[in-house]
Amino acid sequence: MKVQPSDSFEPNTDELLSNNAAFVREFADQGLHLAPRRHLAIVACMDSRMDIFEMLGLAHGDAHVIRNAGGVVTDDVVRSLVLSQRLLGTQEVILIHHTNCGLEGLAETSLLEEIVDESGIKPWWSLESFSDPYADVRQSIGRLLHSPFIKYKDHIRGFVYQVETGHLVEVDADPRHI
Ligand code: ZN
Repeated sequence: MKVQPSDSFEPNTDELLSNNAAFVREFADQGLHLAPRRHLAIVACMDSRMDIFEMLGLAHGDAHVIRNAGGVVTDDVVRSLVLSQRLLGTQEVILIHHTNCGLEGLAETSLLEEIVDESGIKPWWSLESFSDPYADVRQSIGRLLHSPFIKYKDHIRGFVYQVETGHLVEVDADPRHI
């Protein structure tokens, strides 16, 4: 699926800033610590239907949430996890991908060709499309288990969030990666 830009688009920022003014009036998070209280980091897709804190009953200050398209374990996710673990004390990683992801079944080659045609630059990163979200979670768990930079690997679990129902379905790691 490819959604076209809207001709009637209006930027949101001014409205959001007035929302923030109301937020500031009610703000009660002054005492929270820098380091996540639950020693937990979550890597999730950027999908706008997933409120990670809400779906897991987390409170502000409980966990790091690292997000990108697909919740893919990229070099920058590893960088964030390294800082999360070694600087801010997290010891557990939860991966959350989901059904109906924009990357699922993406025609990666044609999008890449379009990008190269328009920009003249061949991307140095992968789009990371996939056909099966469960296999994709296994791939992400495997990348973490094989990374020389991830220090705490005893508590890594992966899930596919069902956007239709809100359920999290756990995915076992690929036995080749354990
Ligand atoms: Zn997604």
